[in-house]
Amino acid sequence: MLDNLDKFRCLKRSTTGAINIDPLQRGGVLTPEAREAMMEWADGYSVCDFCTGSLEGIENPPIKEFVHQVLPEFLEADQVRITHGAREGIFAAMHALCGAGETVVADGNAHYTTHLAAELAGLKVELVPAGEGPHYRVDPQGYQEAMERVMGRGERVGMAVLTYPDGNYGNLVEPKAVSEICHDEAVPLVVNGAYSVGRMPVGAKSLGADVIIGSGHKSMASSGPIGVIGATEELGSRIFRRSKLVPNKELEMLGCTLRGAGIMTMMASFPAVVARTKLWDEEVEKARWFAGEMEKLGMDLMGDRPHGHDLMFFKSQVLYEISKTAKKGRYFLYRELKKRDIFGIKPGLTRQFKLSCYQLPREDLKAVISAFEEIISSHPKA
Ligand SMILES: *Cc1c(COP(=O)(O)O)cnc(C)c1O
Repeated sequence: MLDNLDKFRCLKRSTTGAINIDPLQRGGVLTPEAREAMMEWADGYSVCDFCTGSLEGIENPPIKEFVHQVLPEFLEADQVRITHGAREGIFAAMHALCGAGETVVADGNAHYTTHLAAELAGLKVELVPAGEGPHYRVDPQGYQEAMERVMGRGERVGMAVLTYPDGNYGNLVEPKAVSEICHDEAVPLVVNGAYSVGRMPVGAKSLGADVIIGSGHKSMASSGPIGVIGATEELGSRIFRRSKLVPNKELEMLGCTLRGAGIMTMMASFPAVVARTKLWDEEVEKARWFAGEMEKLGMDLMGDRPHGHDLMFFKSQVLYEISKTAKKGRYFLYRELKKRDIFGIKPGLTRQFKLSCYQLPREDLKAVISAFEEIISSHPKA
């Protein structure tokens, strides 16, 4: 293998220039400023030119001001750190704040990484079940019941996690209601804002969260992996405690997290990210319009109604029926969209899929609607 490596020399991306409706990718598209920063700071450890011992202490480039002043205001949190992503932030909070064998109460729509983080931290998970389709709602009151179930078994609840919104349906659970229930039981609430921090106007205080988590590559126009974690002074002092062996390094962060271009792309995009969160209502309105057009074509939006987020989950019996007789079977949809330079729905999916309109101009979305219209009308249904 090692004498035939030419294919690794030139890595072109075949989807450049296409309309991408993958929810995972919409909010992570770099701004022109971030793209430039990416090249400028591309060398490994590039940000460490003037480091005096900690990433968040670096004044040139202005990481210190960004992490200790700008992000705390943005996240409405006392203490903020940069992580490698939302999952690493969730893990750090669980690992630092929960005792071995304790239980984490999480919403039934929680991301799989919440489960992995709990497992790795040696914790159990009790879910607040999501309701049946088509809405799949999580009732805040369910947090009370879940905590009572855990305590009824003689176990301790170490933390509650609310996924806001969840990554499947884009549902938004009233965070204040969950927060009040948790605080009555003296349980800290972690809000997983992987799909909200950097898109929506959210902050820990307004949400009633003790810890807030964001994902840079998902929602902050950053080249990842990168994320943010914000916490109250009290919880921050526990999560960001220093090492006993190497006293100037923060243990949970393993000293330093982002050591290169990723943090620079987050900073370079940040002015645009702040600006776009102020235009969130327009994104929601666009998503509702798009969903309405999809429904006219016979597909059904799942989750909250009216919908409050750009992440949308559709069921599409009509495309499933077509797939039964289409050439290429269930891959027909992917191929038909690809022909029209539209990407983001996973190959093989027809019956249900997620997509996002975030930051896409209406003309592009009209092209997507027309594509679905053409695909549906030009194929016989089984
Ligand atoms: C994408 C996602 C994550 C994982 O984010 P990373 O930054 O890649 O770790 C976690 N939670 C939710 C709800 C997500 O949608």
